[in-house]
Amino acid sequence: MAVKIESAYLDSGFEWMRGNLHAHTSVSDGVLSPENVIAAYEKLGHQFLAISDHDNRTPLDALQRKTALTLIHANEVSAKGPHLLTLNVSSAVEPNPDRQVVIDAAVAQGGLAILNHPNWEPNYAHYPHELMERLTGYTGIEIFNGVVEFLPGSPLATDRWDRLLSAGRRVWGFANDDAHFPHNIGLAWNVAQVTGKGPQAVCDALKAGRFYASTGVEISRIVARSGMLFVYAPRAQCIRVVSEYGRLVYLAEDSEMEYEVTGDEGAYIRVECYGRGTRCAWTQPFFITKPADA
Ligand SMILES: [Zn+2]
Ligand SMILES: [Zn+2]
Repeated sequence: MAVKIESAYLDSGFEWMRGNLHAHTSVSDGVLSPENVIAAYEKLGHQFLAISDHDNRTPLDALQRKTALTLIHANEVSAKGPHLLTLNVSSAVEPNPDRQVVIDAAVAQGGLAILNHPNWEPNYAHYPHELMERLTGYTGIEIFNGVVEFLPGSPLATDRWDRLLSAGRRVWGFANDDAHFPHNIGLAWNVAQVTGKGPQAVCDALKAGRFYASTGVEISRIVARSGMLFVYAPRAQCIRVVSEYGRLVYLAEDSEMEYEVTGDEGAYIRVECYGRGTRCAWTQPFFITKPADA
């Protein structure tokens, strides 16, 4: 019996949609008005955008009527604790210092909760790791945050992600601009397999893990079938398969790779596709069950 691979990705019946889920406007500390932020993302060719002002759910209904972008209501809960992105919420979530209360309130509204830039700040611990382990009910974490490229700490947090996944947590990895200035726009995005129209359909895909995160590499095919994993990223120069605690289990110096899952990798594998310079795309994890475990 083949090793079982649990994949969130679909083979057909979806549309790839690209978008950034973390952008500030002049409603909080961004320099551009909401109209100009939307115009900048339209120009970039994205299909969805979340406006996530600090402790403010910027109203989007009037703006939505003037753009083809799918706009998602959001709020970056910022005061009194580490930043937490709430998506698809019907009202701004109060910045309770207990971030579990914030997550629960977002989820109760049918929203998503995402832990922002875990490795920001000089101690690389905007989120102390024990806090990330203690909190439950969040959809994922930012594994890349654009604005932190220009701030102390690391924009990347795949290390935190691997630690959570290795501890058995099922959380997704997001890549966002966290745009405050025009030069932050277009640094990072998410590409989702969306099966309907509107913000709810985008959020359903994100919640299910049917997306990949990117800083410039496109993935056009992800297929997991019969113990094999196939990934094609047209402009990738190398593709890495990593497992628990970030361990490299396979490297293809190519734009496509086919990997036979042995079952000895651990509880999950995930794929990183490296392109030119620092560009990368990250798939969500694929969970592995060995026949003996079944
Ligand atoms: Zn933040
Ligand atoms: Zn932010």
